[in-house]
Amino acid sequence: MSTDLQAAAQRYPSGLTILSEEEKMFRDMVGKFAEKEIGPLVSKMDREMAIEPSLIPKLFEIGLMGIEVPETYGGSGSSFFMAVLAVEQISRVDASLGVLVDVQNTLVNNALMRWATEEQKKRYLPRLASDTVGAYALSEPDSGSDAFALSTRAVQDGEQYRLTGRKLWITNGEEAGLFIIFATINPGAGYRGITAFLVERDFPGFRVGKKEDKLGIRASSTNELILDDCQVPQANILGEPGKGYKIAMETLNEGRIGIGAQMIGLAQGSLEHGIRYAKERQAFGQVIAKFQAIQFQIARCATDLEAARLLVYNAARLRDGGHPFLMEAAMAKLFSSDAAERVTSQVIEIYGGYGYTKDFPAEKYWRDAKIGKIYEGTSNMQLGTIAKSLLGKD
Ligand SMILES: Cc1cc2nc3c(=O)[nH]c(=O)nc-3n(C[C@H](O)[C@H](O)[C@H](O)COP(=O)(O)OP(=O)(O)OC[C@H]3O[C@@H](n4cnc5c(N)ncnc54)[C@H](O)[C@@H]3O)c2cc1C
Repeated sequence: MSTDLQAAAQRYPSGLTILSEEEKMFRDMVGKFAEKEIGPLVSKMDREMAIEPSLIPKLFEIGLMGIEVPETYGGSGSSFFMAVLAVEQISRVDASLGVLVDVQNTLVNNALMRWATEEQKKRYLPRLASDTVGAYALSEPDSGSDAFALSTRAVQDGEQYRLTGRKLWITNGEEAGLFIIFATINPGAGYRGITAFLVERDFPGFRVGKKEDKLGIRASSTNELILDDCQVPQANILGEPGKGYKIAMETLNEGRIGIGAQMIGLAQGSLEHGIRYAKERQAFGQVIAKFQAIQFQIARCATDLEAARLLVYNAARLRDGGHPFLMEAAMAKLFSSDAAERVTSQVIEIYGGYGYTKDFPAEKYWRDAKIGKIYEGTSNMQLGTIAKSLLGKD
C-alpha cells in the first residue's frame, strides 16, 4: 500500500467488511472447517433430519460454542462480531449447523453472561463452552409472535419452583443439555410475571417431545418440550423473578443479528455454487456465464448479498461498540432474510432443471432460507420494531 493510502486508511474509519487480521484468520479457519468437516455430510444430514453427532464435539474443540464467553469461564473471550462471522461461515456450508452455533452463542451464552449470578456462571458457562449444547425456549403452541401471552406456569414450592406447560419449536431440543425456559409466576400480571429458568435436561418432570419434520434446516432439531411438574431450584432463576420479559426481548434483539448472519452465509454459499455452475454449464455452444442475462442475475444476487452483509456487520459492530442497535438489528434480519430468499431462488434458476433436484445443492439453500423470515420474530414483527423506532410507540 502506498504511504498516501496508508495515511488515508488511518484517517477514515474502514469499510464495514474490512476485517482485522484476527477476524480474517478466524473467518478462514471456520470456513475451512465447515468445508472439510461439515461439507461432506450436508446431504445426508438433510435427508436423515439429524446432525451427525461427531460434529458437535468438533464445534466445541475449535472454540465455536463459547465465542464470547470470558476465558475465565473456559470460553474464547472474543466479540459478538466473531460469533457473527462463525455463524456466517458455517451457514455458507450448512444452515442447520449454523443455527446450532447461533443459538448457543447469541441467545444462550449471551443471556447467561448478562443475567446469571456468579454462581450460575461458574456452574454453567464452562460446560456451555466445552461440551453442553444450550436451547432457548420461549415459544408455545398458542404464543409465538405474541410471546408474552405464554402460559407455562411456575409455582413456588419452598426452595424450588414447579413448572408445568408445553414449549414448541425449540431449536437444539435433541442435542441440548441446558434449556432457558420462560414461564410465568403470575399469570394475572401479564408480561411482568414472566421469569427465565435454567433447566437441565435431567431435571425431574422435564421431557423433550416430538421432533418437527420441516421444509428446511432439516438437520437442526426443532422439538416440543414438556414440563410436567418439573422441579427447578430457586437458585436456577436467571435474572430476577418477573424480569424474564426483559431477558427475552434483549437477547432476541441480539439473536436477530445472528439470524442475519445465517442468512448471508447461506446466500453466499448458494451464490458460490451458482457461479461455479454458470462457468461449467454449456448451452448454445458456450458456457452460460457468457450470457449477459446470467451475468446480470449473478450481479444482482451479489449486490443483494453485499447490502445484507453490510446491514448485518453494521448491527454487530454497533452491538460490540455499545451503541444502540435495536432498529439496525431488525433491519438486518428483515433484509437479509428477504435477500437470501431472492438469491437462493435465483440460483435454482441458474441451475435450470438440475436446480430443482436434490442431486444439486441449490434447492436445499432455498428451503433453508425460508426460516429466516419466521423465527426470532417474523418479518412483520421486524417491520413493527423498525416502524416503532421511527414513529414512536403512540
Ligand atoms: C424451525 C423453527 C425453529 C424455532 N426455534 C425456536 C426456538 O429455539 N425457541 C423459541 O422460543 N421459538 C422458536 N421458534 C418459534 C418461532 O420463533 C415462532 O414460530 C415465530 O415467532 C412465529 O410465531 P408463530 O409460529 O406462533 O406464528 P404467529 O405468531 O401465529 O404468526 C402467524 C402470522 O401472523 C403474523 N402476525 C402475528 N402477530 C402480528 C402482528 N402483531 N402484526 C402483524 N403480523 C402479525 C406473523 O407475522 C405471521 O405471519 C422456532 C420456529 C421454527 C419454525
